[in-house]
Amino acid sequence: MNPDIPPSDSTTAPPSSSATAWAARDQNRVWHGFTQMATYAASRPVIVERAEGNWLVDVEGRRYLDAISSVWVNTLGHAVPELDQAVREQLDRVAHSTMLGNGNRVVIELAEALAPLVPVDDPHFLFASDGAASVEQAAKIAFQYWVNRGVNGRTKFLSIGGAYHGDTIGSLSLGADGFGSDIFDDLRFQVVRAPGYEDAAWADTAAALVHDHQGELAAAIIEPLVQGAAGIRTAEPGSASALADACAQHGVLLICDEVATGFGRTGTLFASEQCQITPDLLCLGKGITGGYLPMSATVAAGHVYATFLGADLGPETLYHGHSYGGNALAAAVALRHLELIQKPKVLANARARGAELAELLAKRIARAPGVVDVRSIGLLAGIELSENLHELTARRVCAATVEQGVLVRSIGNVVTVVPPLSITSPELELIVGALERSLTETVNGEMAT
Ligand SMILES: *Cc1c(COP(=O)(O)O)cnc(C)c1O
Repeated sequence: MNPDIPPSDSTTAPPSSSATAWAARDQNRVWHGFTQMATYAASRPVIVERAEGNWLVDVEGRRYLDAISSVWVNTLGHAVPELDQAVREQLDRVAHSTMLGNGNRVVIELAEALAPLVPVDDPHFLFASDGAASVEQAAKIAFQYWVNRGVNGRTKFLSIGGAYHGDTIGSLSLGADGFGSDIFDDLRFQVVRAPGYEDAAWADTAAALVHDHQGELAAAIIEPLVQGAAGIRTAEPGSASALADACAQHGVLLICDEVATGFGRTGTLFASEQCQITPDLLCLGKGITGGYLPMSATVAAGHVYATFLGADLGPETLYHGHSYGGNALAAAVALRHLELIQKPKVLANARARGAELAELLAKRIARAPGVVDVRSIGLLAGIELSENLHELTARRVCAATVEQGVLVRSIGNVVTVVPPLSITSPELELIVGALERSLTETVNGEMAT
């Protein structure tokens, strides 16, 4: 322990130095994702020490409402007694044992509990730790599915504009340009690209592309209902069926990436339900453990899984699997979380608060200075700022909101608001009030200069 760092107990620590000192130590040794480290400490990052419910508490005891659900992973708030207990109980059994060639009791229980709930026929679960890995796995499974069937030439993927599927090379390839992916263009494989959700005819165009490229497509991938990282771009729930029908007609596998939308984020357990589509492969991540431990899963329909069955060490085998895939602690917390999230009041609250958030944004934010659009679905909302403003404006609006004790984050010129499913009405008021003040101050201040 560095003696220069005062104790973190807020009652004894001097009020100003601790957070700054921790930020300096942080900048010195920790490399943060999607973050410019040269300006990190100066941007006054929140250094979290603990949490209570929907609130994070920093090293100086300041409280911040977690209005981004720790980047969309948290569902029921932090330090949920039942989830804490699930981790503790599993710790007394085993923390982790390998899924390669062997099994683990709690992972079996989790897969059995998920099976009747996921929108996939006769589902089989391949667990990993990150959303990007679940997409990577889906892509490899889709590719090998055709190899296993002895069909040549089905080596391409269709994906849509604005898509974000993670930051590994394969998931970056499926994802659209932007998000810093262009730098890696020489490494990204080519895809057949349909328009994104900002184009109302996206699905018809995608369906036509499936028709045109049917002999060479292994699979098509979408984020059902809403493209999160694209800036909360929503689609008509019924629109995806045109693409799903074209995929079914031509045998192209349909992959639904529900890493962001899964586990209640859009008001139903899965967004595919609202779209009335049944993917052949489903990607799960983020909310699967309620934001506790890293876990993701690729869910394969029975007819896909069946093509991988063959002789021991035979070529049909899926030669893929991560060291920590199916981690027992993560599985235990995911299992308990699944029980909690199925309580009717949880999704009912997500829907009611989602409607309330949409109303508050329409009433108080849509006409705020610099705002050109507000979009939301369930508890996933975006506030788009004018392209005419400085490119750092959304950042500054977020910083001003964090100063008021509400943690939000921007993607490009879109301020995202993604509260946990456990958010309350007064907390939503707090979020919107803080945003309203930040927008007014920041944007007016900028237009004056
Ligand atoms: C976040 C996200 C991913 C990537 O998940 P990671 O856990 O960050 O690797 C993939 N797809 C979608 C739709 C996401 O929102």
